[in-house]
Amino acid sequence: MFTTTVKALMTHVSPTLDISAKCRNKITVIGAGTVGTAIAFCLLAQKVTDELVLIDQNEELARGEMLDMQHATMYLDSPNITSSTNYEDSKNSRICIITAGTGPERNKIALVTRNTEIFKAVIPQVVTYSPNSILLIVTNPVDILTYVAWKLSDFPPHRVIGSGTILESARFRYLLAQKLGVSTSSLHAFVIGEQGGNSIPVWSGVSVSGVRLRDINRDLGTEHDPEDWTDIHRQVVESESEIERLKSCGSWGIALSVARVVKAILCDTKECFPISTHIKGCRHGVDKDVFLSLPCVLGCQGVCYIVRQNLNNKEKELLQQCANEMNELQKKLMLE
Ligand code: NAD
Repeated sequence: MFTTTVKALMTHVSPTLDISAKCRNKITVIGAGTVGTAIAFCLLAQKVTDELVLIDQNEELARGEMLDMQHATMYLDSPNITSSTNYEDSKNSRICIITAGTGPERNKIALVTRNTEIFKAVIPQVVTYSPNSILLIVTNPVDILTYVAWKLSDFPPHRVIGSGTILESARFRYLLAQKLGVSTSSLHAFVIGEQGGNSIPVWSGVSVSGVRLRDINRDLGTEHDPEDWTDIHRQVVESESEIERLKSCGSWGIALSVARVVKAILCDTKECFPISTHIKGCRHGVDKDVFLSLPCVLGCQGVCYIVRQNLNNKEKELLQQCANEMNELQKKLMLE
């Protein structure tokens, strides 16, 4: 009956498409919790993808989120949205975004261990069904879990990316822009290194329209700075726990940041983002297999280049210290 109506309404012209031919910008989001759903929504609302798969071990949650988004497809240029617990449905994804994880845990090594176990269940499945995809890790602690994903996937480093300090950098730029009275798009500023409390604000590179603030105030961001610009980085670091206290978990900032990264990859824009990447051999003296954030040029193959920032000695030292601590923690995971 239904088929008869369809046949009466339309004349069939094209052959049925092979699934791989449809997957130009297929994105899979693994973990349909607060962050995964916000990322999925931003990708759809910004029309970054027209095929999105939500995977979660909680079948009902993923299905509920899927239905909610499907019902809005008339406002989203009719993307194809599915949910599943089966990784076969993620087949041939261009990018797999991992947000699956357990809740907050004060003890870092305990959190890393728990989320590593989750990654051991997730990553091999992703690799089986999307062997040519790019992995984008969001689960915290993001830098070490990006390393875990790299080890478990055996993907080349340019195809394993962590969201890293992208959100910290966005917050840094926002707060600096507020203090200076200019728009965030008019200034350049990066937070690099490890995401969270150990992140490194690159004060030596903060500029507005090409004018370096350090050339005006040489103590900018140091303990000798009478204007106390350092406080801005303190606010950046503390904003995560403040948002957690106020609304249990931040989602929009990270979701919009991740959507921009995905767009840069799919559209091969060669935009530059501070994301967690394999930094061994970059010119800042790091010789360990660690993933930390540096500004990276992104394109259709993932990370195209790591930008060689002119870091001063203090910034380099902090980066090397981060890399050494990360390497010690990694050894405890015994993933070699
Ligand atoms: P959440 O608890 O709401 O969602 C996590 C989801 O993962 C749950 O729905 C759970 O069912 C799913 N999950 C757990 N194990 C799974 C498995 N084996 N297979 C499939 N799904 C599984 O958490 P959230 O608030 O969405 O946060 C997700 C992660 O993102 C956390 O690790 C959080 O710390 C991190 N996060 C990172 C940033 C960043 O800047 N990188 C920012 C915010 C949150």
